[in-house]
Amino acid sequence: MSNAANEEGCKLLHERRILLGTGDELRIFCVSPIRTNCYAYISKGECLVVDPGDKGKEIAEALAETRVTQVVATHGHNDHVSGVAALLKATGATFAMAKGDVAWARDHSGRPDHFGLAYGSSMPYPDRLLAEGDVVAVGDARFTVYAAPGHTPGGIVLLGSASASGYCFVGDTIFRGSYGRCDLEGGDEAAMSATLHRLASIIPGSTLLLCGHGQFTTMAAEVASTPFYD
Ligand SMILES: [Zn+2]
Repeated sequence: MSNAANEEGCKLLHERRILLGTGDELRIFCVSPIRTNCYAYISKGECLVVDPGDKGKEIAEALAETRVTQVVATHGHNDHVSGVAALLKATGATFAMAKGDVAWARDHSGRPDHFGLAYGSSMPYPDRLLAEGDVVAVGDARFTVYAAPGHTPGGIVLLGSASASGYCFVGDTIFRGSYGRCDLEGGDEAAMSATLHRLASIIPGSTLLLCGHGQFTTMAAEVASTPFYD
């Protein structure tokens, strides 16, 4: 966390807007005091929001010309779910995440996190519980759920297919040159190692990994440049 982020908090920052070759669109918002990447995937006017860690109302306003129908959290940490309630209220969307993180998130969201940072709203109970092999559909795009325990017990990644082929939401499981910390409550280094190896065998190398914090990367770049996949 940089001092600048600390001082000013993280304003809703429309960092990037990427038009995909398929006509779909990806928008990236920076939210939460620790600069979480919140993603909006838009296909045929329908919008899926991934990891609204804060500023749910502002995210809804920024996406007002789309139909936000679904919200997915890659895991239950405060900086990925604290904007869910406000976003659902503003849009009427449904909320989905994996069962493994629900109880913890319901218990901890709305309270100060492991950095001592306070987040506003507690997380509502999901409308849909996601498990390995489930598919999240938005417009022409499809995202298949893969379990990714390690950073948290109920972490998932969402691998795109159809019009979202080549994109994968990886939450805090994979970062550019690194991976999510395993020393927080529920973290498991051995599970993370197994998850990283498994994902490297599932996700095509050219796939753009959309990380929960920091820069994008690709599966091939991670396998080639870091020792975690040896
Ligand atoms: Zn996390």
